[in-house]
Amino acid sequence: MPHNLQFAQSLYDGYETYKEKSLFNRRFKHSDIVPLIEQLKNKNIFKVKKVGESVQGRDIFLISIGTGAKKIFCWSQMHGDEPTATAAIFDIFNFFLYEDHYVEFKKSLLNNVTLFFLPMVNPDGTELFQRFNILDIDLNRDAARKQSPESKVLYSVFNEINPDFGFNLHDQSREYSAGIKSRSAVISFLAPPFDYAKTINDNRTNSMKLISKLYNILSLMIPGHIAKYQDDHEPRAFGDNFSKSNTSIILIESGAWRGDREKQFLRKLNFVSLLAFFKSIAEDSYLNESIETYYSIPPNESLMIDCIIRNVTVIKEGNKIVVDVGINYEEINIEDNRQFYYKAAIEDIGDLSVYTGFREFDAMGMSLQLGKTYSKIFNSLDEIKKLDFASLIETGVTNVKLRASSINELYSPVLFNIILNDKDRKEELKQEAVPNFILKENDTFKCAVINGFLLDSISMHWDEGNSLIFK
Ligand SMILES: [Zn+2]
Repeated sequence: MPHNLQFAQSLYDGYETYKEKSLFNRRFKHSDIVPLIEQLKNKNIFKVKKVGESVQGRDIFLISIGTGAKKIFCWSQMHGDEPTATAAIFDIFNFFLYEDHYVEFKKSLLNNVTLFFLPMVNPDGTELFQRFNILDIDLNRDAARKQSPESKVLYSVFNEINPDFGFNLHDQSREYSAGIKSRSAVISFLAPPFDYAKTINDNRTNSMKLISKLYNILSLMIPGHIAKYQDDHEPRAFGDNFSKSNTSIILIESGAWRGDREKQFLRKLNFVSLLAFFKSIAEDSYLNESIETYYSIPPNESLMIDCIIRNVTVIKEGNKIVVDVGINYEEINIEDNRQFYYKAAIEDIGDLSVYTGFREFDAMGMSLQLGKTYSKIFNSLDEIKKLDFASLIETGVTNVKLRASSINELYSPVLFNIILNDKDRKEELKQEAVPNFILKENDTFKCAVINGFLLDSISMHWDEGNSLIFK
């Protein structure tokens, strides 16, 4: 096996040693990374510099390591709800802190390259776990106008370093698949074009060759799950603008992996990918790669849906039809934006055979009956909690009424949705509706779908998911 593949495989296998344990899900904040950065100040191998502040006064730091002539600049989380690479950067710092691990590799790497990291460019947006900064500006559409202080920091740091290589680190939508195969796009790469003609110069060629190299390495770990991001030129984006200078830019987009909502597996892949990129740059080993490999990488396609109920029989306007129901789960931030609950919506109905669900349920031979509201109005949550949900659900009930105008809970603490204010509610099977229905086979209950999540009458608990409160 070529040396590079062995190296990547050994990082992959040994990753847990380096994982920064204080960052354990996606909703960590600026206040979680500042102490980690402060600790680096005491270590000789790192240089730490405050380079600016966000609109709300949160410090933005540049951390560098190495003495080599080739300069590599990595910036992450321009979009506050895209934290995967930020966490991986702190794993990489830990990797360098284990001084007796990979000694020869690190010595050779840091003699050849200098690494610069600007983690969490958008700390105010991160605080709210939202894409935009606190001025509601998309920092990655602010490269030309530079109205936000965070954009100015990124721009000036880039110019001061004048890097040979730049890594623009993002998370992408769950909806992307790697081409038309039914596999999610776990990692998507791009050598961003610096003009509308998508001209290829030497810098862009080098980006493509590096991506080709990583494509071959990552194909060992996630075969079929690697894609190429849309390559339309975006004159307002930083990557596209930086590509105009003497820098080879690589965009890395972390997508979605089945069963990894918190993206810790993707974080590990970022850790492996970045270190493998650095090694290739230090050794110039990417120069042997062919850009044909880059062009062969399948493009991002929007063919993934969170959950698909297949082949279910429904009656509409007196017509009996067989359809697939595609459901997506939106995350609603709660508790200082460190937690979330789900609100589901029907994305599409009909022939969804070209789409793939992260979850799929085959309802062939089953009929769909819209959820009902239990006839009694309850005076307290405690009364509701005493209900026999398992037998009620078999009668098609998905909602209960509570005599209250408001309650403390943000989502339903029981299996059924809760309707407040004695409001009338009629469930519907149409685009954008909250999916609440049961599935029956020969008039026998098979399972319920409440707020888009599947529930059978035997287990009667959510492994993932929640029901809602309708006000
Ligand atoms: Zn982004």
